[in-house]
Amino acid sequence: MKKIELHCHLDGSLNIEYANKLIGYDVKDKLVSTKDKNLTEYLKRFDLPIDLLQTKDNIEEFSYLLSKDLEKDEVIYAEVRFCPLLHTKKGLSIDEVINSVIDGFYRNFSVKVNLILCMMRNLTFDENKTIIDYAIKYKDDGVVGIDLAGDEIKYKTKDFEKLFDIAKENNIPFTIHAGEADGHESIDAAIKFGAKRIGHGIKAIENKNTIKKILQNDILLEICPSSNDDTGIYSITKNPFKELYDMGAKICINTDNRTVSNTNLKEEYEQISEIFGFTNQELINFNLNAIDKAFCSDFEKYKLRKEILNEK
Ligand SMILES: [Zn+2]
Repeated sequence: MKKIELHCHLDGSLNIEYANKLIGYDVKDKLVSTKDKNLTEYLKRFDLPIDLLQTKDNIEEFSYLLSKDLEKDEVIYAEVRFCPLLHTKKGLSIDEVINSVIDGFYRNFSVKVNLILCMMRNLTFDENKTIIDYAIKYKDDGVVGIDLAGDEIKYKTKDFEKLFDIAKENNIPFTIHAGEADGHESIDAAIKFGAKRIGHGIKAIENKNTIKKILQNDILLEICPSSNDDTGIYSITKNPFKELYDMGAKICINTDNRTVSNTNLKEEYEQISEIFGFTNQELINFNLNAIDKAFCSDFEKYKLRKEILNEK
C-alpha cells in the first residue's frame, strides 16, 4: 500500500547498518528505545545520531539511506524534519547542513521528500529565529515549513508565540509538537498560534474544549503510536487517538522515529488495524488527510491523491 508520511525525524531514523559501520561496533542498544518510559529519557537516544550528523558526507549518506528506507516502506511522499543548528557543532554552516540533506534525498527520485526545519524548545529565541530565516531562504527549494520540537514539559508551548508570529508574517507553514508529553493547554496554545497540524496532540483527550477546537479548526493530528508507547505516554492499545478519531478528528499515521522506535509505517498500520479494526478504506483516508494538510504545492497534492487512489 502506497503511503504518505508527514512526521519523521531525520536524526531518529538513522540507518543502523551504516551507523554501525561508521562507529565500528553495534550501536543498536544505544539507538533503539526499549520503552524509555518518558520523553526526556527517549530524547537522550538522539545524542549519538546528532554526533554522527556533523559532516557533509554523513548527513548526505544518512539522508540518502533514509530515502531508501522510505522507498522500501512504500512511502511515496514524506516530510522529513530536523534542526539544522544541531549539526553545526563541528564547523558546518547551516547552508552546508541543509544542502547536504537535500543532496542525500535528491539522490533517490523514487520518493519525493520535502524538509521541515525544527526549532527546538531549549534553544534561544535568536537561534530559533535563525531557523525561520533559513526556512524563508530555502522556501520552495527543498524546505516547506517549520516545527517546534524538544522537551515540552520543561519549555511550554505558550512561550513561543512570537516566533510563530514571525513565521506567519513570512508565510511559512508550521506544525507544532503539542499535547505529546504536556497537557491539553499545549495544544490550545498551538491552535491559538494558527497551527493547522499538530504533532501528536493526543492529550486533547483530557479536555472537551480542546477537542472542540481541533474539530472546529480542522486540525490534522500527526499520530505516532509506537513513539507514544516508547515514551511511556500511552501504550498502543490505550492510545486515545482512536477516540479522538471517533469524535471526528482528522488524523494521519506516522513513525516519528523509525530507528529509535524500531518501526516503519507498514508496521504502524498493521498494529493499529489489528488493535482497532481500521478498514483498508480508513487507512487510505489517513493518507488522503495527510495529503490535504501536507506543505507541498497543490499540483503535487493532485498527483499524490491520484497515486494513492490508484487512478491514471
Ligand atoms: Zn516528533
